[in-house]
Amino acid sequence: MDVKPIAFAVPSVRNTLQARVAWGEHVVTVGGDAPVRVQSMTNTDTEDVIGTAIQVKELALAGSELVRITVNTPEAAQAVPHIREQLDRMDVHVPLIGDFHYNGHRLLTDYPECAKALSKYRINPGNVGKGDKHDKQFGQMIEAAIRYDKAVRIGVNWGSMDQELLADLMDANAKRPQPFEAKQVMYEALITSAVDSAQLAEKMGLAPQQILLSCKVSSVQDLVAVYRELAKRCNYALHLGLTEAGMGVRGTVASATALSILLQEGIGDTIRVSLTPEPGESRTQEVVIAAEILQALGMRSFVPSVTACPGCGRTTSTTFQEMAKSIDDYLRGQMPVWKSKYPGVEALKVAVMGCIVNGPGESKHADIGISLPGSGEAPAAPVFIDGEKAMTLRGEHIAQEFHQIVENYIEKRFG
Ligand code: SF4
Repeated sequence: MDVKPIAFAVPSVRNTLQARVAWGEHVVTVGGDAPVRVQSMTNTDTEDVIGTAIQVKELALAGSELVRITVNTPEAAQAVPHIREQLDRMDVHVPLIGDFHYNGHRLLTDYPECAKALSKYRINPGNVGKGDKHDKQFGQMIEAAIRYDKAVRIGVNWGSMDQELLADLMDANAKRPQPFEAKQVMYEALITSAVDSAQLAEKMGLAPQQILLSCKVSSVQDLVAVYRELAKRCNYALHLGLTEAGMGVRGTVASATALSILLQEGIGDTIRVSLTPEPGESRTQEVVIAAEILQALGMRSFVPSVTACPGCGRTTSTTFQEMAKSIDDYLRGQMPVWKSKYPGVEALKVAVMGCIVNGPGESKHADIGISLPGSGEAPAAPVFIDGEKAMTLRGEHIAQEFHQIVENYIEKRFG
């Protein structure tokens, strides 16, 4: 028997410029050799200072490293510095990004405290004004970014494309001997709008490394096609996300599919999962999913991972499902505190398995694992620590005892 080397699958690396998105001394680097960052967006009314600050805090605690807020009215612009102050009082220093459409040039000019309190501006070139006004109003926003040393994301979205540019490209395409499909012209319009706007911003004096681009569309294959081409045409850091991903399973799967393909190719420096929350669902779900995508790809670790088998006819009780969930909830719930208390704990691997078939084997691959008794097996649950069988749990309190074992292990290894 011979071993043939099989190549490891690792994400490609794309060299992009590195942006600094900062709030005071709290700096989040984006692009270059920085890790892919998780971003999210609030859905509160920005005029509601306390409500928005609370949601930003929740998103930040869930793992969002950048949080975007809508800045759509003079009242919202006036609220921004107060939201920032409130966050600082709560010891939450996550950089805030202002999302501007239509009136950003006025808001950033008329409300300098808002312009200063934000760490980055999102500008949609399709919504900065038409005709002669376009470059002037775009320029006012870039001027604010230069004056206050802020990063800018030029965020194109196919739902709000620059219609004049699209019409020009459609006309040019119609004159070709063999015109491209309309969808390809749309791709071109998205990319051209982003890249040309970035070059215009540079001409106006904005440093190229302070520019990020995005071209969001809502279908997986369109996103992959657009970003592959966008990545070829520039070295700006790219923000990646499927726009209007949808709800629940569909939105989660679509986002994970699209982002995974591109991230594996080294494309994407920040990501957002634009999930529509189910009624009553926490806004933080989009952060959890974004983090899980990066963790599943092996690019980053946010929360200790729990490997659990799906269960089958050998697990007729729900004990192991309950236990896998309780361990997962417990680890996730502790992370805001553990992040600073136990550095490195996010890389921990825990296994909770349903029976003897794969239980001991999978548990040995984890840092700490338990193999619960399947139906017909003796009522004993061997626990494996660092690949060795450490003890066997029996009785009615296996779950609680296992929690304690995990906690002791974390304290000993990461404390
Ligand atoms: S480990 Fe056991 S219980 Fe879990 S899926 Fe495999 S055979 Fe079924």
